[in-house]
Amino acid sequence: MYPMFDSDEDFFRAARDIVASGGGCVAQEEPFYVCDLRELAARHARWRDLMPRVEPFYAVKCNDDKLLLRTLAALGTGFDCASRGEIDLVTNLGVAPDRIIYANTLKIASHVRYAASVGVNIVTFDSKDELIKIKQNMPNAQVVLRIRCDATVAQLYFGKRFGCDPTTEAPALLKLAVALGLDVIGVSFHVGSDMQEPDAYARAIAHCRDIPAKDEASEPQTMYCINDGVWGSFNAPSTENPQPCSIWGPTCSPLDCIVPATSLPPLQVGSWLLFKDMGAYTLTNSTDFNGFKKARVKTFVDRCLW
Ligand SMILES: *Cc1c(COP(=O)(O)O)cnc(C)c1O
Repeated sequence: MYPMFDSDEDFFRAARDIVASGGGCVAQEEPFYVCDLRELAARHARWRDLMPRVEPFYAVKCNDDKLLLRTLAALGTGFDCASRGEIDLVTNLGVAPDRIIYANTLKIASHVRYAASVGVNIVTFDSKDELIKIKQNMPNAQVVLRIRCDATVAQLYFGKRFGCDPTTEAPALLKLAVALGLDVIGVSFHVGSDMQEPDAYARAIAHCRDIPAKDEASEPQTMYCINDGVWGSFNAPSTENPQPCSIWGPTCSPLDCIVPATSLPPLQVGSWLLFKDMGAYTLTNSTDFNGFKKARVKTFVDRCLW
């Protein structure tokens, strides 16, 4: 934790100090993140203000920095975890298991058993096979149906992968859940990441309310989910801003191109580039590929919040 600071001026001075001081007598040579806890507290306060009856469950995958999670825990949020690793991370910070929802509808059986063993009891589902898996591995689960309702415009649509159709699939799944003796406590949805159609929330909530009691014929496509995927390998930010120079990462991979084409003032060797607002997923999707360590997080907070 860097000493507290009160203004953006202090913030940049602190960043420059880190660059200047580095590790002891050697100048800083590794990249670092700057995390401003003031922003986190302000957004949490805003949520509380505008939606006092809605309990936030923070999706750990967006940014799993420990100090950030600990701050959210202290502020009283719940947590949305997708794996044993995320459940471990959050419970190890002292978060009570009843403040966690295991919200990946595609679960590894041993992770479900682990969740049950540490007292996590709320899970989402969107298919028959997963419901049966839940019954077998967490018999007293409280389950939340996940329906599909993508926004018309989003950066990432979840509907292809997660959520059942609210009219053709949901009724049969709810019936099965009841037949299995599982306690259905709600309906959930994800309208898409970075989506640009606020009305999608209203549509999704209406779907939640209106799930019909009558089944309609449906033939869902089988999806086989295995235990590794694209997020086990490489993730690179992209840009749409093609111009005269290019920016590359440190590895020997030809894919390690951060900005294929842009324009910058001439830089000296040793110059630093600051990328503002790196955003959700950048930290959690980073890897140690090629022996280059992940960027560290340097966290800031002001005196008042501290
Ligand atoms: C990824 C995810 C989130 C967070 O989504 P954002 O669009 O990044 O806010 C929330 N809930 C679930 C179930 C998710 O998988």
